Amino acid sequence: MISIILPVYNEENQIYASVQKIRTILLSEKLKNQIILIDDGSTDESWSEMQRLTGDFNNVFLLKLSRNLGKEAALCAGLEAADGDACLILDADLQHPPELIPEMVRLWREEGYEVVEGVKATRGNETLGGKIAAMTYYRLFNKATGINLTNASDFKLLDRKVVEAWKSLKEADTFFRGMSAWLGYKRIQIPFEVQERREGISKWSVQSLVKLAIDSITSFSTMPLHIITGLGIGLLLFDVVLVGQTLYMKFSGQAFTGFTTVIILTLGIGSCIMISLGIIGIYISKIYDEVKGRPRYIITEQRKSEVKSIRRRI
Ligand code: UDP
Ligand code: MG
Repeated sequence: MISIILPVYNEENQIYASVQKIRTILLSEKLKNQIILIDDGSTDESWSEMQRLTGDFNNVFLLKLSRNLGKEAALCAGLEAADGDACLILDADLQHPPELIPEMVRLWREEGYEVVEGVKATRGNETLGGKIAAMTYYRLFNKATGINLTNASDFKLLDRKVVEAWKSLKEADTFFRGMSAWLGYKRIQIPFEVQERREGISKWSVQSLVKLAIDSITSFSTMPLHIITGLGIGLLLFDVVLVGQTLYMKFSGQAFTGFTTVIILTLGIGSCIMISLGIIGIYISKIYDEVKGRPRYIITEQRKSEVKSIRRRI
């Protein structure tokens, strides 16, 4: 049995149709399945649309989070609730094409891959700025962590073994893409074309993407701390040279005016200290978050399908 996991945040206009489409594909392939929908604190009618699904389809399982806790939290809730032999995660807006599900399942069942991951063949109709930002981020992430996430997505099929291993990772602040890459296992990538969003708007703002980039790098690597240490050593060496020059000029009787140098150094060192403190602060705040040990999500309501078999024709 395969568990399909869909995080849902304000998708009232398309969630019903998305599930309908996924079910049609699963049925045509005769795949035993359950569909888990996680309402990540939607403020529109998504929850009632989801309840409509439990009235019309069998094996649909709904979870409602207490508020908008983010896609990562929704994915955690879905993975922990799933009991299939494999879990398949995809976006509720179907930007991850469900037509690929049969091929992903085939790679898992017949070829024994434990992780089948969708990678973006192209980046859809993203702006040039967006593409450059994404490339820079992938490079930085790769350099800092040694994990290559280029064009990775959350569109993944994970074998039960991998899901159990993932569940044993205890950090409160999760980064699904990175964590599942970190786990290893026998994996294969399958390229897909990012589809146009059919309804509604993307929930990601520039601010939330920058936050995700900083969070993911600092969650996976301590390299920024090593960089600032290196920077400190570099500045110290520069300072030693400068002291040598000053002493030389003093003893050789030359007038030495250092006003400009002082300003430049004060500004340079000051900003380096501030950046360094900021980076250390990010790590401390991560420790603070982890130490609090808060749950990753809170579920306020759960629903199961009321029908044992499909009542309506889909
Ligand atoms: N989503 C979520 N919580 C959020 C934001 C998004 O569960 O806070 C869901 C959303 O409903 C969708 C998926 O995560 O199923 C991807 O979101 P979106 O389409 O906004 O992101 P994009 O495709 O632009 O990266
Ligand atoms: Mg989307």
